[in-house]
Amino acid sequence: MRFSSLAALVLSLLIVACSSQQKVGKTNTQVIANLKAHVQYLSDDKLEGRRTGSEGEKLAMQYISSQFSSVGLAAKGTDGYYQPFDVNDGKQINPGTFFTINDNELNAGKDFFPFPYSSSQKIEALPSIAIQEIEMPWFFDLKDVLEENKNNPHFDLNDYIYNNAKKAKERGASAVILYNSTATDDKLQFNAKDKSAPLTIPVFYIHKETAQKYFKDPAAALTIKFKADIGEKKRVGHNVVGYIDNGAATTVVLGAHFDHLGYGEDGNSRNTTTDHAIHNGADDNASGTAALIELARILKQSKAKNNNYLFIAFSGEELGLFGSKYYVENPTIDLKKVDYMINMDMVGRLNDSTKVLTLGGIGTSPTWGEAIKTTHSLNFIFKYDSSGTGPSDHTSFYRKDIPVLFYFTGLHTDYHKPSDDADKINYDGQWKIIQHVNSVIESLNDKGKLAFTKTRETQTSTNASFRVTMGIMPDYTFAGTGVRADGVTEGRPGAKAGLKTGDIILQLGEYNITSMESYMQTLGKFKKGDKTKVKYKRGKEVLEGTVEF
Ligand SMILES: [Zn+2]
Repeated sequence: MRFSSLAALVLSLLIVACSSQQKVGKTNTQVIANLKAHVQYLSDDKLEGRRTGSEGEKLAMQYISSQFSSVGLAAKGTDGYYQPFDVNDGKQINPGTFFTINDNELNAGKDFFPFPYSSSQKIEALPSIAIQEIEMPWFFDLKDVLEENKNNPHFDLNDYIYNNAKKAKERGASAVILYNSTATDDKLQFNAKDKSAPLTIPVFYIHKETAQKYFKDPAAALTIKFKADIGEKKRVGHNVVGYIDNGAATTVVLGAHFDHLGYGEDGNSRNTTTDHAIHNGADDNASGTAALIELARILKQSKAKNNNYLFIAFSGEELGLFGSKYYVENPTIDLKKVDYMINMDMVGRLNDSTKVLTLGGIGTSPTWGEAIKTTHSLNFIFKYDSSGTGPSDHTSFYRKDIPVLFYFTGLHTDYHKPSDDADKINYDGQWKIIQHVNSVIESLNDKGKLAFTKTRETQTSTNASFRVTMGIMPDYTFAGTGVRADGVTEGRPGAKAGLKTGDIILQLGEYNITSMESYMQTLGKFKKGDKTKVKYKRGKEVLEGTVEF
């Protein structure tokens, strides 16, 4: 699951309390034991957080494919069960890069580096360090600019270098060569994630010792040869795909992503400490992956044979739905014959007292409402989100006009933290969800191909567009009025106003907070430094505090 923005899961909520009292059927202890084994294996430290393209991903792939195989699924990837795909990982310094001074070859990375926006022409020149001649490389000592901005918190050296190089080009430089003759650490290094537009000249940084050796005498003339060769850095992720061929005209797709954050290298962790900790992702999404394997076992034996069944364990989800986007662009079955897609992402934290289960994508087919109504509720309290878009892989299928249904037991304080561990999983709850998915599939067996309907888009405005934040983690599954804080960050405006986990925000300034949507709209009305009253509910009490953004 990935919430790239706070607004990504604004649910249009409708609570349906099903009061059906039918018997649920005996708990299948074997399935629960299987689920436990899958989650425990996938979220073991040995897999190091299943980061896309890592060794841990490989171990997870092997596990899932061997499970698919033992369940009796046919391989339906492009390489057996696997479907490899590229993940763009930014830029890299290719081996074609070199820099020589007076015929001494410098070591890329150690003695120098090219900036990622460098152009790639090969240059040979005899410049003088102190003179800026037209069509020649220009040298810049960062000394002055570093000293001038020593106490300027808004100064961004990388920004300065980029803009300065652009100007130098306009004034006639054929390349820019930077060095730092001061003792101040400039912290410059090759930044693979730099997305600056490419320049038409190469820009190099020469490390301190090397610069001292060659650039000491500003009057010296040097023979330099260099070339910056910047390439795309790629990682390979793998979907794992299995198939039950019932010889049917249509196919149901079942999906769950199995990748997670690794050590948080991709910047998507919510870990607040600085330790290099493994993010085990037991709920996100070993839980859905385990459910996918057990559903495969059930559907292999199912009498509902009017569909074929395709099972996809996606990778690259946490980086931006890479695996599912790749699959829908490079499908291994005919997507036109897909009946519908069911996605399970974070299904391991069913709350036994609230029994809230979120179902997304309800608006993507007129048949969903009916199917849910006629299927045994298993005492779930459903929260419906009509949108076909959301923070997980069903979005990719919705975008191909396929009806989707999304199962989700809700956010929690361990979300995207190293503490999302297997001992916190509700395996009985997971088993109930599997039964629900299976009943929905059974109830649709004779209904033919589902009609598709377009839904509203989930708002995708990013956090960055909000000028202020409260520093709370909203509970997206909270069904009542207001916004319930599922976590409160110390030292932020919400905590300073007295808010604690579990409090429900009812009013900010003169604005009533009725939903996530109104909460976010309201936040948009404030700017940094504003002070306002916050009214919130704690238990039965209504309290007030002062928020300063
Ligand atoms: Zn996630």
